[in-house]
Amino acid sequence: MASTESRKPFPQPAAGYTQSFWRTDLDPLDSHRSTPDLPKETDILIIGGGYAGASAAYHLFPEDQQGTPPKVALLEARELCSGATGRNGGHLRPDLYSMTATYTQRYGIEAAVEVVRFEISHMKELENLVRKENIECDLTFTRSYDIYLDADQLATAKSFYNFLVDQGLDFIDDVKYLSKEDAQGTTKVRDAQGGFSFSAGHLWPYKLIAGLLRIAVSRGLNLQTNTMVTEIGQTRTPEGLWPVTTDRGIIYARKIILATNAFTSALASEYSKAIVPCKGLCTHIEAAPGAPYQQLPETYAIRLGSGAFIYQISRKDGSIIVGGAQYTYKDAQEQWHNNPDDGTLIKNVENYFDGYMQRTFFGWEDSQATVTHKWTGGMQNILDLSVLADSLPHIGGIPGKPGQFIAAGFNGHGMPVVFLCGKAIAQMAQQSVSFQETGLPKLFETSAARLDPVYDDTLG
Ligand SMILES: Cc1cc2nc3c(=O)[nH]c(=O)nc-3n(C[C@H](O)[C@H](O)[C@H](O)COP(=O)(O)OP(=O)(O)OC[C@H]3O[C@@H](n4cnc5c(N)ncnc54)[C@H](O)[C@@H]3O)c2cc1C
Repeated sequence: MASTESRKPFPQPAAGYTQSFWRTDLDPLDSHRSTPDLPKETDILIIGGGYAGASAAYHLFPEDQQGTPPKVALLEARELCSGATGRNGGHLRPDLYSMTATYTQRYGIEAAVEVVRFEISHMKELENLVRKENIECDLTFTRSYDIYLDADQLATAKSFYNFLVDQGLDFIDDVKYLSKEDAQGTTKVRDAQGGFSFSAGHLWPYKLIAGLLRIAVSRGLNLQTNTMVTEIGQTRTPEGLWPVTTDRGIIYARKIILATNAFTSALASEYSKAIVPCKGLCTHIEAAPGAPYQQLPETYAIRLGSGAFIYQISRKDGSIIVGGAQYTYKDAQEQWHNNPDDGTLIKNVENYFDGYMQRTFFGWEDSQATVTHKWTGGMQNILDLSVLADSLPHIGGIPGKPGQFIAAGFNGHGMPVVFLCGKAIAQMAQQSVSFQETGLPKLFETSAARLDPVYDDTLG
């Protein structure tokens, strides 16, 4: 077995570690420990305090629970929601036709449409959740513009869109095609060749996660931040408990939920080919006080060409969260591929978003917009992004490890996917519900076969 030293999940946050825009307004739970010491034993241990771990925890403590609350602990290596969820674009944008084309080609239209419907269901699900639980997380519903700057790429997308229309699928009614004229006039994207618009949303992801964990903690969750799991033992004790080593001692767990995203293979090395940590970039941009700029209430994906993608939301205060541009550093693989270090910059893209709004949108020419939040020092924050080899998350029982479950590998597209996966993994761990009974898209099921993926989407 590898020593603890050689299995470090990730470097400790460096001194002077810069937080993302979303972590500028911290919750009282940010460094919370429900008890001074780790519990010695727990029924269910969640590892990871991001969206997946928080959703699992929330669902393990339902409002109508009877009797003694379950014994559940959640260990987070750093502060609450300090991984990808606390560093993302805040874009809640179901994918209606983009990866759907790839999934259709690989697995058939039925399986692909199952994923689309699942993603769309998150819109209503999160709206209901936020209303019911009164979670203030700036959840906003709007339209999203998917804009193509490359005419050939647009033509390919349009042809798959036409195919979906021909299938008579109801969800495609929401997707409106935009001609070049529409796209430049309505969306204000300077070099737009055309695109699509459809329903989407955005939110403050950190506040959603803090809200979910606040509820779970109030109902009995033992939350332990700043607690790194260094190893999960290979065998169970005679009582059926997995020994889990942390930097604060050992905790024994009957069931384990791995919600560790990009860092999964440090604890479950069998996922090293399936969940490949990659870095992405995200920034916060603001116009100068009093300077004129065009309000952009919709969200955006701007496609500059094959593999060149930028995602963007506008906050109510007019500021912009924008990230992506992987094409600028794709060839410098050592800087981002199979690299979970979120404490260093990707040099090739460091200054990319300076002047981005001015050069991309009509109406921002005189905005004097600047990148105001630089996540990891320098000009931008570089973020870990768990990219799936086959682009699909791994949900379910870990092959060959009874009592261990995984909900990880949500790619750069977790917001319309993770919440219900967290619910499903909670049901599997707590009530022995089978994967099929959860109603998750069948493509999401983790399996021994998927550990050696047929496709490698990480390098495009
Ligand atoms: C730059 C960027 C932009 C993105 N933009 C969007 C977007 O706009 N829309 C969208 O839908 N998706 C986006 N995503 C993807 C989305 O953020 C993720 O899919 C989602 O947040 C994954 O949630 P998670 O809980 O699985 O992972 P995380 O939030 O990363 O949580 C995993 C947690 O596990 C902890 N952990 C790991 N190992 C250990 C260990 N050994 N011990 C204890 N704790 C451990 C980590 O510290 C981390 O907090 C983006 C991602 C990135 C990186």
